[in-house]
Amino acid sequence: MPSSFHPPVRTLMGPGPSDVNPRILEALSRPTIGHLDPEFIRLMDEIKALLQYAFKTNNELTLPVSAPGSAGMEAVFVNLLERGDKAIVCQNGAFGGRMKENVERCGATPVMVMDEWGTAVDLDKVEQALKSNPDAKMLAFVHAETSTGVLSDAQRLAALGHQYGVLVVVDAVTSLGGVPLEVDAWGIDAIYSGSQKCLSCIPGLSPVSFSSRAVEVIRSRTSKVQSWFLDMNLIMDYWGGSTRRSYHHTAPINPLYGLHEALVCLQEEGLPQVWQRHAMQHKAFAAGIEAMGLKLIVDPLSRLPQLNAVGVPEGFDEAVVRATLLSQYDLEIGAGLGSLAGKIWRVGLMGYGASQKNVLVCLGALESVLVEQGLSLDRGAAVQAANEIYRGA
Ligand SMILES: *Cc1c(COP(=O)(O)O)cnc(C)c1O
Repeated sequence: MPSSFHPPVRTLMGPGPSDVNPRILEALSRPTIGHLDPEFIRLMDEIKALLQYAFKTNNELTLPVSAPGSAGMEAVFVNLLERGDKAIVCQNGAFGGRMKENVERCGATPVMVMDEWGTAVDLDKVEQALKSNPDAKMLAFVHAETSTGVLSDAQRLAALGHQYGVLVVVDAVTSLGGVPLEVDAWGIDAIYSGSQKCLSCIPGLSPVSFSSRAVEVIRSRTSKVQSWFLDMNLIMDYWGGSTRRSYHHTAPINPLYGLHEALVCLQEEGLPQVWQRHAMQHKAFAAGIEAMGLKLIVDPLSRLPQLNAVGVPEGFDEAVVRATLLSQYDLEIGAGLGSLAGKIWRVGLMGYGASQKNVLVCLGALESVLVEQGLSLDRGAAVQAANEIYRGA
């Protein structure tokens, strides 16, 4: 007979989920109340305001979709696209490919702008695509490509989109709460994120936000949104207008306590401080990696602080190293995907996990496992290099 499940206590430094802040775990265990309880409605209003802070937006339609990041992605595409529409989709990693799938499943045509895995979205190619496709309805791109550790210039991409009059759609699953992101100032029309990356909440919720221009597009559709569950016209009545709330689905009550706590933590620390902390922890980690004789494969100008793509040294089996880190150190890091499979490790420094402790633990553990596997390196140099960065900060 199965007994209670007690997971091991891991340090999560992969591509997500990230280490969950204990404050959030505590919030999750608070008593469940009804989803139309006035106290719960007050919580929903606070979550909305906190998400507006996190996204830097005044968008009225800002809420967490009751499902993971991929559902937020789907919500954006199914609401904005109709059969026969055309969407320019940038792909420089795994998640651009998932956007393409969504566009096709909406009966729309994707126009792909392809870039090498490990590089940022190329602005010139995007401008070319916008010029050649004056009938395109949207431009969609991934701000922080978690599959490769690359940051694209969302501000300039959004500006280009606006210059050509298309809706600007951004995947911010890994960027929200990790790097600067300004929905209103940059003119983003629709954006989705995830709870389990830099917000350090549990997986299963996807914050989204739509500009008034996007809401206009949703309200004036000629066909019904193909997904009943993700139809924003219906969800707006549940999360939106404070005058009346009509039942749509039962909100995930306790997970929303967790998201609320995560966003309170974000606001307490302050967005600029949070971004600064990620940049700083990345700097220390990168110094350690280089001192070990390893390389970060992404150009410094487009490196994501919260997701570090570390090149696997020639001749090493990356899977053995990851398995050893997990079994000996309870430390999880990620593997490469697609064309980078076997070539990189993906080390997350996300949210609560973007800490000095995690950086030093990971560098020390990685060094020791690599030495065990036969790599010759200067023992102790990695932690020392990281500590020098901390001393200088
Ligand atoms: C993790 C991730 C997603 C998918 O989110 P899930 O919560 O796993 O569904 C989408 N886009 C990017 C960039 C991601 O990192």
